[in-house]
Amino acid sequence: MNDPASGNAALAARDLRHIWHPCTQMHDHESVPMLPIVRGEGAWLLDADGHRYLDGISSWWTNLFGHANPRIAAALADQAQRLEHVIFAGFTHEPAIELAEELVRITPPGLDRVFYADNGSAAIEVALKMSFHYWLNQGHGEKTRFIALTGSYHGETLGALSVSDVALYRKTYAPLLLTPFLTPSPDAYEGEPGESAEQTAMRRLGELRALLERHAHETCAVIVEPLVQCAGGMRMYHPAYLAGLRRLCDEFAVHFIADEIAVGFGRTGTLFACEQASVSPDFMCLSKGLTGGFLPLSAVLTRDAVYRAFYAEYGAGKAFLHSHSYTGNPLACRVALETLAIFRDEPVLARNRTLAAHLARRLEPLREHPHVADVRQTGMIAAVELVADKASRRPYPAAERRGLRVYLHGLQHGALLRPLGDVVYFMPPFVITEPEIDRLVEIAAAGIAKAVAGP
Ligand SMILES: *Cc1c(COP(=O)(O)O)cnc(C)c1O
Repeated sequence: MNDPASGNAALAARDLRHIWHPCTQMHDHESVPMLPIVRGEGAWLLDADGHRYLDGISSWWTNLFGHANPRIAAALADQAQRLEHVIFAGFTHEPAIELAEELVRITPPGLDRVFYADNGSAAIEVALKMSFHYWLNQGHGEKTRFIALTGSYHGETLGALSVSDVALYRKTYAPLLLTPFLTPSPDAYEGEPGESAEQTAMRRLGELRALLERHAHETCAVIVEPLVQCAGGMRMYHPAYLAGLRRLCDEFAVHFIADEIAVGFGRTGTLFACEQASVSPDFMCLSKGLTGGFLPLSAVLTRDAVYRAFYAEYGAGKAFLHSHSYTGNPLACRVALETLAIFRDEPVLARNRTLAAHLARRLEPLREHPHVADVRQTGMIAAVELVADKASRRPYPAAERRGLRVYLHGLQHGALLRPLGDVVYFMPPFVITEPEIDRLVEIAAAGIAKAVAGP
């Protein structure tokens, strides 16, 4: 650990010589440290100099039951010694079969077909193509457009980015993208003064209805992140929007695609966010927590009616065409099965309710902070929105990078917090303890105090 050749500085220097990191202006690393992590345990990460960091963001929202979870690690090791991978066209294996059975069992009713891919963006590509192709196979080739919410994020491959509305990711590549119809997000933070979250949701449904009245005939699907628009700043909305969306999609004959890649698997308080509105979408995209944060894997669930629209004699040319080399990887499927077994064996959702209530109590005092415009929470996702002026909710100029100051403070004090712009959020692994939550919030609060002090 103290050997300088394997310490933080040496590894960071070697990294920066050859690696190009995601979501990063690499120049930042002239001042922001690149942190080599050598171990993980529970909610903690350990760097090569022996410093510990409490993972407040579940390593990009993937981890559920702790880093290097021994139970999941053992299942992975066992599977690796039996079958690591096999082509998934014409061949199958038990982990994929069992996982499909389990996903059909635990997701909302009516989702009976499982298509595997290997990351979240790929799942979105699959859902978009499948929806379009369904309508084509039904004789509705004129349906070529999608409806997305403002502030949405569905990934960064070209199709997924097309239905995303986070300027940071989209703006530069806009000339390459499909153009969706954008409908205003039901985001409660953007509601009218005095309006309840439910009233905002109902008003936004009215706007969606008006859009569908004009464009449903050329629209394949409406795609949403149920309850929380995560990458768009952890913006949250009332479940009434999902219930209304289901009704509108039925009325106007367009699909409802639920992107539960970030909010699925217990994040919002229920196993899936759609449950809070008692709705079944036509497509549900899952990834991230699906493998407990161990391996890349995604799944798109859909209805038998969709599947049947592709099922025909070969010459009809109706087959769905989409493949990835690692589709249905056995290691990833086995790890996902072990993750779902933990949900069966342990009272995960009940424990999360207690943890979420504790987190809420700890965050409460931040509401009074002169530069905090909003403290919001849905289950195990909580966010604190920093602003330059509390009364008008005027944001800080982005160039001031206040959120980055919170990030740096966190690293210096042993916490991984990675604000989205000026939104400091908490999305910890489900194995975090109450004292660890206290620590995380203390570090965040001190980081916020520092970040808003001075120019
Ligand atoms: C992360 C995310 C994606 C993309 O998943 P990747 O595996 O990063 O490609 C899509 N949708 C939502 C809601 C996400 O949070």
